Amino acid sequence: MENARLRILSLLKELSEAYGPPGYEDEVREIMIRELEGVADEVRVDKLGNVIAVHEGSGPKVMLSAHMDEVALLITHIDDKGFLRFFNLGGIDPRTLYGQRVMIKTDKGVVYGYIGAKPPHLLKPEERKTVPDVDQLFIDVGVSSREEVKNLGVKIGSLAVFATNLVDLGNNRVLGKAFDDRAGCTVLIEVMRLLKDSPYTVYGVATVQEEVGLRGARTAAWQIEPDVALALEGTTASDTPGTPDHLASTKVGGGPAITIADNTLIAHPKVVKLLVEVAERLGIPYQFKQTISGGTDAGAIHVSKSGVPSGVVSVPTRYIHSAASLLDLRDLENAIELVKGFVDALGNLE
Ligand SMILES: [Zn+2]
Repeated sequence: MENARLRILSLLKELSEAYGPPGYEDEVREIMIRELEGVADEVRVDKLGNVIAVHEGSGPKVMLSAHMDEVALLITHIDDKGFLRFFNLGGIDPRTLYGQRVMIKTDKGVVYGYIGAKPPHLLKPEERKTVPDVDQLFIDVGVSSREEVKNLGVKIGSLAVFATNLVDLGNNRVLGKAFDDRAGCTVLIEVMRLLKDSPYTVYGVATVQEEVGLRGARTAAWQIEPDVALALEGTTASDTPGTPDHLASTKVGGGPAITIADNTLIAHPKVVKLLVEVAERLGIPYQFKQTISGGTDAGAIHVSKSGVPSGVVSVPTRYIHSAASLLDLRDLENAIELVKGFVDALGNLE
């Protein structure tokens, strides 16, 4: 494998395996700061925890945004036998929870656990046909009392994320957790590296708390007042059995996805136009996102202050918000090329 591919893969692996529930993005933030410090003129952290890397230049101010947080489980109750109850932070399909391994970061270290439910042989016939709700599930951390849970450092307010290591499947495909949005974080770092000599002012922003309502992006955009913005995402790919072609939001291997609209944004037509022009001129494969579900940081950025023309470039990712997601490294590399090409072409943004 060539050097760039190896670097991207190891960066994605490190970011994917890092622990970053909404509001507790510290591990991811440290990686972002370490990587961005070498390639930006200034790196700062704002009061909410957003990382803001600035490449000084002139012309339009562009903000590139990728969120650091991942969906998580908030521990809300610990029973006297040591089982943990929880609610989800961010959208998690309850079908994906039962039977998964999770990890909880505490002051005393990392605690691993397993998501259990009432066993199948005790289910009533009608229960067998349904998926257990979040409130019927529990986390088992292998102890027998509330006291032992406390000794592990787990308490009310502790947060669990899926415990998944990245696996290289070969054929350019990788499997790992939180590609939404550690894929975007990887794109952000690589684009900032490539833009070291850009004549434009570029803000590379790694945001907090996207999964619970685009919160970090809102305060970041307020401070930066960009002239144009792109959210860099790992978005749903449903090119899998059971989904008709026209409803497959995006397709893995089909190139980076350009959003026209989603639940939080009408992408600005001039941003979409420039992205398409750049992709066609540079021969970068691309696709349009075919569904309007979901939302991204761009939803908060484009309505900041007097408004910011904004768009979204995403890496198609199957099974987002579950224990593992799958992407094609070529899509990620092409997303890097597309975003870099977009910033290079900002003089043509009309
Ligand atoms: Zn996301």
